[in-house]
Amino acid sequence: MSGLLPLPPFFDWSRAMQARDFPQGLTRDITHDEETSLLYPEPTTEKPSEEEFWDMLFDGACPATDGCEVEPDGACPHGHPTWPRRMGLV
Ligand SMILES: [Zn+2]
Repeated sequence: MSGLLPLPPFFDWSRAMQARDFPQGLTRDITHDEETSLLYPEPTTEKPSEEEFWDMLFDGACPATDGCEVEPDGACPHGHPTWPRRMGLV
């Protein structure tokens, strides 16, 4: 990983730092919304690489698991969470 930039404020710091120090944390796969318990739809796009993952966070917009661009901690109109959300980081 290159260059440690300050993390965006929406981050759950402890989880984000854990992921940064232990990249295997990025292999988490959250299958349902922790608030509503509703199952997330199956991803229809490839999971991003670790590098792509950090890039997308600092861009301020993230692809949802079906490819829609939404807020990093959001979900698209089709019910797909963003990849960081699916990975339990926001
Ligand atoms: Zn969508």
